[in-house]
Amino acid sequence: MSNPLLNPDGLPRFSEIRPEHVQPAIERLLAEGRAQVEQLLAAHEHYTWDNLVAPLEAMDDRISRAWSPVSHMNSVVNNEALRKVYNECLPLLSAYGTELGQHEGLYRAWRQIAAGDEYRRLDTAQRKIVDNALRDFRLSGIELPQQQRDRFKTILQQLSELTSKYSDNVLDATNAWHRQIRDEALLAGLPGSARALARQTAQQRGLEGWVFTLEFPSYYPVMIYAENRALREELYTAYVTRASDFGPNAGQFNNDAIMEQILALRHEAARLLGYHNYAERSLATKMAHSTEQVMSFLNDLAGRTRAAGQQELQAVRDFATAHGCQELQAWDIPYYSERLRQQKYSISQEELKPWFPEQRVLAGLFAIVERLYGLRIMPVDGIDTWHDDVRFFRILDATGTVRGEFYLDLYARQHKRGGAWMDECVSRRRTAGGVQTPVAYLTCNFSPPIGADPALLTHDEVITLFHEFGHGLHHMLTQIDYAGVSGINGVAWDAVELPSQFMENWCWERAALDLVSGHYHTGETLPEELYQRMHRARNFQSALQMLRQLEFALFDFRMHRDYDPARGARIHETLEAVRREVAVLQPPAFNRFENSFTHIFGGGYAAGYYSYKWAEVLSADAFSAFEETGIFNRDTGERFLHSVLEQGGAREPMELFVEFRGREPTIDALLRHSGLAA
Ligand SMILES: [Zn+2]
Repeated sequence: MSNPLLNPDGLPRFSEIRPEHVQPAIERLLAEGRAQVEQLLAAHEHYTWDNLVAPLEAMDDRISRAWSPVSHMNSVVNNEALRKVYNECLPLLSAYGTELGQHEGLYRAWRQIAAGDEYRRLDTAQRKIVDNALRDFRLSGIELPQQQRDRFKTILQQLSELTSKYSDNVLDATNAWHRQIRDEALLAGLPGSARALARQTAQQRGLEGWVFTLEFPSYYPVMIYAENRALREELYTAYVTRASDFGPNAGQFNNDAIMEQILALRHEAARLLGYHNYAERSLATKMAHSTEQVMSFLNDLAGRTRAAGQQELQAVRDFATAHGCQELQAWDIPYYSERLRQQKYSISQEELKPWFPEQRVLAGLFAIVERLYGLRIMPVDGIDTWHDDVRFFRILDATGTVRGEFYLDLYARQHKRGGAWMDECVSRRRTAGGVQTPVAYLTCNFSPPIGADPALLTHDEVITLFHEFGHGLHHMLTQIDYAGVSGINGVAWDAVELPSQFMENWCWERAALDLVSGHYHTGETLPEELYQRMHRARNFQSALQMLRQLEFALFDFRMHRDYDPARGARIHETLEAVRREVAVLQPPAFNRFENSFTHIFGGGYAAGYYSYKWAEVLSADAFSAFEETGIFNRDTGERFLHSVLEQGGAREPMELFVEFRGREPTIDALLRHSGLAA
């Protein structure tokens, strides 16, 4: 049987990939990888880039090029057979990763390269790969004495079980509650789409009337639109007490003890590695270099935002009072905020859609990056893909060199995971046969074209497309020749959103919107009056939103920094302390937001939630260079291209930023864009 996943050249042959190809291919590649490691280690006494690192990279590349199309198809054309083999292969891949990450022979070989003459011969990108490898070996506990090392492994194992149990509890608590409504009068204020969803949910459960759940698309419209205050209070209470000791399912799925254990184990693991606390450990792989730096960054932003936040809250309070609501409660704020927003700006995403037909938006997006970076983007026909909706494009630079290629899969459909993302299909690296062209998947979930009309995008969706395209450019325009630090590989977590958030800025510029918008009947660009309203509405309650993100970030960071074995985690206490300091909104005492904060207790954001704001400072400040020189300024574009987009993870992000901007980042541009500048 010829297995399409074992063909390392060219693009994946999606139409030939069958579920039965997956496991044999992965098993064979992992076995080859294991054998190759032993053979490479045995074949030499003196290790070099060429006799060790290059062949390891080639092997990794074969594995990721086999796995990438499988993982991608599992996300975008999911079916039961594929999901099954996908889930069967995940533990195989993760075991392989752990095994190599803790392989003592490999560690010795890497250390030999780092310590010898070889290191001096390497270029910047190669040295960074060696440095990163040693760092990651160290963070896997490899340098610890045997007894501590065993303990470290046990901790990691327990943490993986506890974080997954935490997420399961949140999921179960979310699913365990619903509210059925038979009296249509209770739905007053809710738009048709929210009612239709509630109706459909009821039907799926064999219930009459309408059913609301704690899933966000069901919950959120009630909070912003439902006129019935008691209904809002009921849903709010159920939502913010999930997996806790409060609320309608108090005590069931309670995450309190799990959170305590997670924090204790993270602290212990960090201490074993020689850090004072887990916050310090988290920064070992990030751009920010000290806990003091992160704390003063967050506190500074909070200090500059708080007064505006108080004013914004007062405006909602006044509005609510004028509309007969005394004593504004947590479950009233989104509702009156939305009404206030409508009254002030009367702008809806629906209203903007006719000006953003998909073809026009794409042509505008391409025109913008072509002007900024001197590129050409052209469609390529006849490429094998996973679905008829998918298109394929090639990016060429001014010299006619192919810089990258991408698949574009824009529409929502059944069996496709929601949301929008960029993922790597092929990474750039130099091989004996020349440079391997980077290839990206760009995936969105926009409404498909209806009848003869083109797909029409909301302005939010236009921003999403620009965002993901920014990640794509980072992946595709890299000039780094080693996969470990080419494109988005090896880029610090708190810097990786720079190129994506950066692209979003063009969606708010008149001159850019003239390229991106065109009414699907008349071709007319976005009318000035509509543009002005859209612009004014942009910063509605931006201080309150900023304070909310800062509250989460400070809570996350302080909790991990201040863990004290003698006193325990003091989780709720820390959250309340943070709220007293930065929040202008005090939620009710039963609010247990922390019990469903999956980003940090169930996912990879532990002591890293600050990254969202951190990267936003970088992207806003980078964009301000274009505000100063012109948003289509070619010189500024070339500098961003050469200093940031092309460099991947080969150098420190701060060094790259300074090279582009001529100085370290400041928060001024972010404050100005958010309407918060003093
Ligand atoms: Zn992103």
